[in-house]
Amino acid sequence: MKIVYTDHHKLHVTENITFGGYPFVIEELPQRVDQILDALHSNALGQVIQPSDHGMAPILNVHDAGYIEYLQAAYANNATYNQNDEPAIPETFAPRSARRRPKHVLGLKGYYGFGIGSPINAGTWTAAYWSAQCAITAAELVQTGERAVYALCRPPGHHAARELYGGFCFLNNAAIAARFLSGKVAILDIDYHHGNGTQEIFYEDPGTLYCSIHSDTDFEYPYYWGASDEIGSGVGTGYNFNLPLSQGTGDTLYLETLEKGLQAIRQFQPHFLIVSAGFDILDGDPAGGFKVTLKGIEMIGKKIADLALPTVLIQEGGYLVDQLGEAAVNFLKAFA
Ligand code: ZN
Repeated sequence: MKIVYTDHHKLHVTENITFGGYPFVIEELPQRVDQILDALHSNALGQVIQPSDHGMAPILNVHDAGYIEYLQAAYANNATYNQNDEPAIPETFAPRSARRRPKHVLGLKGYYGFGIGSPINAGTWTAAYWSAQCAITAAELVQTGERAVYALCRPPGHHAARELYGGFCFLNNAAIAARFLSGKVAILDIDYHHGNGTQEIFYEDPGTLYCSIHSDTDFEYPYYWGASDEIGSGVGTGYNFNLPLSQGTGDTLYLETLEKGLQAIRQFQPHFLIVSAGFDILDGDPAGGFKVTLKGIEMIGKKIADLALPTVLIQEGGYLVDQLGEAAVNFLKAFA
């Protein structure tokens, strides 16, 4: 199996950062992918290749141009305004009654962001751009005949919508890969959190099935999306399938629920499958709340692989750094 990876993710610095002079800590750290990459190497799970550069067109096929301009300039504009080198983090948020895209640098941060957990640093745009290129390269390889390709993306993507960032995500790697593929695509999102960005992007699209298994957002981030009655709209009605689960869910219930998702995917008869693979479903994850075991992750991977579809595997969340390598190996071995 080919593994698409680039060191450019390290440009998205999330360690030892400050906001307003105070330490600002997030769980989305570069060591996450270092651990995964090491484990894939030592288990000889596949050949690591660099992403090729497909440019901006596939990204602009998903995201709004004004949003992209904002992401590209956010750090520099914020640093110039504040006269410091801290990351751009929203201080205000546009409420529902907001009437316009603001001109002010501070207003823009909260116009496009929906949380404070996605600091934009000097290298964030470049890292996000190459994370998306990893996903596109994986999609291209699958389009041209590979059975399964794993894109080791960082930053992750599934919380990013057409013109919205948050939850550590800036560009929606899975959505960009899905639009890049020609044919019907099913996206299966197994990250602990609902992929609100992916849902929004394809909400009216009958050619892309979005199926998410996640922690019930009545009790968990991202709060505003993720209920089972969100089924798509317009011609997309019936092509959005949310399967929320209670905190504390373990292997048995998770695998039963996965079977429902897989059944919907089989009925959809897609040409391609994209998996938003978040390992924050693992028991003990600092951002999670399920009790899925490493053995459970292996069984999840096997069941998805049994669909026997051309598959693009895209890394999303997962913050239990010490176990991420084993989780990735267990998940991917059925595809390798
Ligand atoms: Zn997550």
